[in-house]
Amino acid sequence: MRLILLGPPGAGKGTQAQRLVEKHGIPQLSTGDMLRRAVAEGTDVGKRAKAVMEAGDLVSDEIVNQIVSDRIDAPDCADGFILDGYPRTLFQADALERMLSDKGLELDAVIELKVDDEVLVDRIAGRYTCANCGAGYHDENLKPAVEGVCDKCGATEFKRRADDRPETVKARLWAYYKDTAPLIGYYHAKGKLSGVDGMAEIDTVTGEIEAILDRL
Ligand code: ADP
Ligand code: ZN
Repeated sequence: MRLILLGPPGAGKGTQAQRLVEKHGIPQLSTGDMLRRAVAEGTDVGKRAKAVMEAGDLVSDEIVNQIVSDRIDAPDCADGFILDGYPRTLFQADALERMLSDKGLELDAVIELKVDDEVLVDRIAGRYTCANCGAGYHDENLKPAVEGVCDKCGATEFKRRADDRPETVKARLWAYYKDTAPLIGYYHAKGKLSGVDGMAEIDTVTGEIEAILDRL
């Protein structure tokens, strides 16, 4: 199963992707995470990406396309994958299309998470992840069962993304509407698009996504 989760920052893509990973056993390919890892490791790609990302801008299409293409070739992607945060531009969507057809693969569905702008800033400002396993949490919406302890792995260190500040969120939303929202039309025209109400509770959203996947 090859899926794309589409929606503005804070829509819940990462949250839903984690659940799909657990249920379906296919990996989540988050270009944001892959890039942040490259930055942390100080690789060549990471050095080029660092300044751009901290300003809330988009890393060049060439860099991202290459990272994704390499990742899709890994053995754990043989049964499928969930793309979260990629493609972000029409150029990337075309590159993905070509990349997949070169590999003899096809996309099964694109799921759009629809959320109002006012909610996004609160979601982003309140989110954090386990420093050890990457499980996602939120100050109000999704707390660990025991305060300060990760549900998944028991770690007690958490981190917040450097670009999850209200000033940067505006720039990221602007970039989404300008560069990424056109993909909604692109995938609709290809008959691949399904929309879900991302304003609903996390479990409800998961249920809607599973219903879409059942119909595939
Ligand atoms: P994205 O990956 O689309 O940027 P995230 O999955 O990181 O978004 O979600 C942003 C924040 O909002 C997280 O802290 C998450 O726990 C919370 N969140 C996600 N989905 C919902 C939802 N349906 N209702 C309330 N909060 C949510
Ligand atoms: Zn953890």
